[in-house]
Amino acid sequence: MSDLDSLTPMMRQYKEIKSRHPDKILLFRVGDFYEMFYEDAKKASQILNIALTSRNDMPMAGFPFHAAQHYIQKLIKHNQKVAICEQLEDPSKTKKLVRRDIVEIITPATVISPEIPPENLNQYLAVLYHEGSEFFLWMADLSTGDLFGHRIEGSPSDVLRALQDEWMRYQPLECLYREELQSWHAWSSFIKQTGVLAQTLPAWYFDPSYFSPELLTKLEKRITKKGFIKGLSAVFRYFEETQIGNPHLKNNFNRFIERLQIVESSLYVEMDDFTIRNLELTTNLWDGTSKNTLYETLNETMTPMGARLLKRWILYPLAQQSLIERRLDDVDFFYQNGVLTTRIRNTLRSVTDLERLHTRLGLGKAIPRDLIQLRDSLVQVLSLLPYLKLEGFSEKETEKTLSDICDHISKALTDDPPSTFQGEVIREGYSNELDELRRLLREGKDFILKLQERERERTKIASLKVRYNNIFGYFIEVSKPNVHLVPKDYIRKQSLVNAERYTLPELEEYEARVASASDRIAKLEEELFTHLVAEITAHHLLLSEIASSVAYLDVVTTLAFLATDRQYTRPKISETKTLHIRDGRHPVVEQSLGRNLFVPNDTLMTEDEYLFIITGPNMAGKSTYLRQNALIVLMAQMGSFVPAREAHIGLVDKIFTRIGASDNLSQGLSTFLVEMQEAARILTYATPKSLIIMDELGRGTSTYDGLSIAWAVIEYLAEHPDKKARTLFATHYHELTQLEEKPGIKNYTIAVREQNDDLIFLRKVIAGPADKSYGIHVAKLAGIPLEIIERAKMILKTLEKEGFRTQQEINEGFPKKNSPQNPSEQGFLFEDAISANYEWLAREIKKLDLNQTSPI
Ligand code: ADP
Repeated sequence: MSDLDSLTPMMRQYKEIKSRHPDKILLFRVGDFYEMFYEDAKKASQILNIALTSRNDMPMAGFPFHAAQHYIQKLIKHNQKVAICEQLEDPSKTKKLVRRDIVEIITPATVISPEIPPENLNQYLAVLYHEGSEFFLWMADLSTGDLFGHRIEGSPSDVLRALQDEWMRYQPLECLYREELQSWHAWSSFIKQTGVLAQTLPAWYFDPSYFSPELLTKLEKRITKKGFIKGLSAVFRYFEETQIGNPHLKNNFNRFIERLQIVESSLYVEMDDFTIRNLELTTNLWDGTSKNTLYETLNETMTPMGARLLKRWILYPLAQQSLIERRLDDVDFFYQNGVLTTRIRNTLRSVTDLERLHTRLGLGKAIPRDLIQLRDSLVQVLSLLPYLKLEGFSEKETEKTLSDICDHISKALTDDPPSTFQGEVIREGYSNELDELRRLLREGKDFILKLQERERERTKIASLKVRYNNIFGYFIEVSKPNVHLVPKDYIRKQSLVNAERYTLPELEEYEARVASASDRIAKLEEELFTHLVAEITAHHLLLSEIASSVAYLDVVTTLAFLATDRQYTRPKISETKTLHIRDGRHPVVEQSLGRNLFVPNDTLMTEDEYLFIITGPNMAGKSTYLRQNALIVLMAQMGSFVPAREAHIGLVDKIFTRIGASDNLSQGLSTFLVEMQEAARILTYATPKSLIIMDELGRGTSTYDGLSIAWAVIEYLAEHPDKKARTLFATHYHELTQLEEKPGIKNYTIAVREQNDDLIFLRKVIAGPADKSYGIHVAKLAGIPLEIIERAKMILKTLEKEGFRTQQEINEGFPKKNSPQNPSEQGFLFEDAISANYEWLAREIKKLDLNQTSPI
């Protein structure tokens, strides 16, 4: 006997269905439960924290169907794909095994239910297609209709970098790519490391014959590169696979295609993943959430569409002046009209997520309440029409269409419709047929009462009742003592202990009529609803346009609001190498610290002074200052006002940031190697229009190595005719301040004051080098025991008196330390301490990582 033969019929059915979906967790509907078996049960019980049981050694787990949404969301969150297998017939109506099949597949990037958590701004599916060294990357969000294409070409390492950068921006939840790519080791290890749910696809998946000739023509009009179209066929094939048998899906591809955007990278400021992470644009460095990020700080938008667009503006700042000015003009308009802005923002508050709603409508997944939400939102949109920039639709025509849609919804639906069609979704007066059926039902109630009355009189049985139950339908009930009074035409239906139940032809006929009326009402309501949805989605182009223009209005009014609320100013943009910022502030630190506590600082870069070396003790505020400048530039180029009293920004083409990372070891590369790779990238790709932020470059190696490298890097950036990029270089190598003699370079420091042996941070950036390193003060701040601090001071004094240069240093002609009282290199301290028999002390100090130590 084979394995299958020994199974019950139901389990045989299960195995057959499961064999078609080996990569998904199969939820198998049995009565009121979804059951999982074997490996699925084991995996799910762990993820969901539900009991794992077993029957005949077969592992099982399950949950009630009414709680399914909760469990499914959890499985998806844990990167699982879920296949839902339903009973396709009523078990009470068949004696045989109930037919079952998959009705829905849900994967992390294809959830479209209204339960999508709002913090999931976008849920992208990444599809990568390549032909030789030309790569086509699509990022597609089924739930919102967002669809972005990127073309990447270059050496394998360039391509991988570019992919990593886009990954950082989109953070896709799933990825599909051609089988052949698996042999590209760097790619497969990258994709593994991202933890994204990845799947390889055979070549036929990318065959554009998938598209109907009309769609293909439409696509070819919008996209010239064939590779994009091939990639897109995989996107849509996958969507179709997950939305099994959804008849509406293909119609919706039109909407996707209307909205798709090929992202021209030359239009945007180039930022790599490292910069995006390091500037904490959308995720912070500590726990990877959006807390204390630029996005969170600026996100005062009122609608989910606005929030998504704001995020996009932050991740793709513009590189062209005219485009930036256009946004700035709009922000400025609302900035000048504060009252109007407040009114618009209040109105926007009541506009729902039109994009996701639109998708549910389009895919036939909308519930009646969605239409009520749509109407309520469109009513708001109507009052915003004069401020919406609709492309291809006149205001008058839009107003008419939207009013019609709203009227239609109001006429058709009841005020608070339930989600099932049982007669309370469609309003009275909307459909004659429906009203007629309802009247029939209502009159039926009268009919029963009248019948009961009549029969009581006829039979003289006062206790006679016409009743109803689900199993027997309508019947006349007569108690046992009265049975002898029952007339001949009564038909016996059922005997009970105390009573007999009868029926009459008249009653049976009525019953049939009522049953079919209820059925018909349900069907008719659904039909009318579907029809209404179809009428609305016929305006899909307009609705898409409305959603995007609402998003735009939301973002520009939000930026105007922030400008007023946080005293941002409109930046002047030019095609120069200027970076003039008066009283600039860090937009995020200022918010978390409180505006009054943040000390504003200037940055005055010109064609002649563009590389700033910034020295100062740890904790002085160097990193904050560096990042603040990068963020101000970024905000300006995304079209926002900026946190400064005055700002003149010469257009930047790329922003680079590097920090001497102390732990990038997770990637299996040494800190220093990573640091140097990052630096190499900057040196190669920076242009005279770039902005470079370097924080403690060279920290990951021995002092002299690090110092020498930093030295050479600065020289190169400042002097090489192809570079001369605006650069902010923070360092604890005091020696570097001697570079100021070179053209382009200028020293700055962050002022501190010593007071009674304590260090007061003034947070003010001033011209000139730091006069001291104050390492010992910071050590004290960090909580190093006082006796160690005292001893360290003694050692420092000795060193300061005698100077400290090794013979090797002198031989190599290494730059002389310009301030003899500044042996800032802690290595020397330790060596001396060790020789002075203070090994324990040296060990204690060495163990400390000041960058990881809080001031307390
Ligand atoms: P560094 O890079 O010099 O070690 P940071 O930039 O990390 O110093 O700043 C240390 C702390 O000082 C930060 O946590 C920040 O809260 C505070 N700080 C930095 N700059 C300012 C400023 N301009 N005004 C007020 N507080 C600041």
